[in-house]
Amino acid sequence: MTLPHTPRIEINLAKIAHNAATLVELYGAKNIGLMGVTKTVCGAPEIAQVLLDQGIPMLADSKLVNLKRMREAGIKGSFVYLRSPSLSEVELVIQYADISINTELAVVTKLSEAALVSHTVQNIIVMIEMGDLREGIMPDNLDCFIQEVLTLKGIEIVGIGVNFACFGGVKPDDQKMVDLSLLASMIETKFTLPLSFVSGGNSANYEWFMGATDVGKVNNLRLGESIYLGRETLNRLVIPELYTDAFTFVSEVIESKVKPSMPYGERGQNAFGEVPQFEDRGLMNRVIVGVGNQDVVVAGLTPLIDIEILGASSDHTVINAKDSNLRVGDEVTFNLNYGALLSSMVSPYVTKKYSYVI
Ligand SMILES: *Cc1c(COP(=O)(O)O)cnc(C)c1O
Repeated sequence: MTLPHTPRIEINLAKIAHNAATLVELYGAKNIGLMGVTKTVCGAPEIAQVLLDQGIPMLADSKLVNLKRMREAGIKGSFVYLRSPSLSEVELVIQYADISINTELAVVTKLSEAALVSHTVQNIIVMIEMGDLREGIMPDNLDCFIQEVLTLKGIEIVGIGVNFACFGGVKPDDQKMVDLSLLASMIETKFTLPLSFVSGGNSANYEWFMGATDVGKVNNLRLGESIYLGRETLNRLVIPELYTDAFTFVSEVIESKVKPSMPYGERGQNAFGEVPQFEDRGLMNRVIVGVGNQDVVVAGLTPLIDIEILGASSDHTVINAKDSNLRVGDEVTFNLNYGALLSSMVSPYVTKKYSYVI
């Protein structure tokens, strides 16, 4: 079956290229190199190629199937597995990732065994906990961990990294970055181990970077959202000169009627187990678009025209059409936030449409 015309996500590769090139130059001015994070876009090879062409040779993804997808599409990058591997997938990590991030000795030991079987070396970046409380070794245990890893054959420590603002919403501030630099120096000296990557974080590091006169030993960031959506992620402020509309979401009106604004009859739970509250605003111009929470995180969509999303079930989104005069068959376009982008890129129900000019 050919893919339906709607719902679709429109992907402007020229705008993504502009954002990537601008960020490469911005961060490069203080000698910070970038990894392009592709998990946000389901490892789409069309997008990965744009990142490579704009001077981002390293592609990082938290799904091995996405790394596989890019490799099989002939993308010639170096591939980073951006999530600590599970024990059960170490062979696949060896097969598809040039570098993986790690925090567990049991996993690195198994990676070492698998690397030896495949006559290869697995490069690892050791992730350190600095307060956001997702992945990472506690700094006190770092010495010990590195000592152990250095005894393993087939494993090379190529860097250290930290992650912020993903779980705890903790900021990568000056002090955290200074602490990271100190840890890097300590490791380099103590173990005579030059670190190619001191990876300071993600799109949340923008504010720190702009304010920093000296970035210390931090020489790498892993960027997703700011490349795709043009924003930093602590306050979701637009980064100057970047496009925030490289992606747009398009749905189609499947019903357009004047109806009451208050549901009527005895009421229980809705499709998602909630009992939503409504305000009586009298009769309303209402439309339904043929998209729902099964296709995209509807809460992450913002309409480009003056209408209001009232709610969504699995396959329907109900909208207050106000004075827009939307009719059946009309298309409705939305801006997307991170959740909406991620969900629509992985959804088999959403058609991907690429364009090549701004
Ligand atoms: C997702 C992820 C990133 C990218 O984050 P953005 O906010 O999209 O820049 C970087 N590092 C790790 C470990 C991640 O999981």
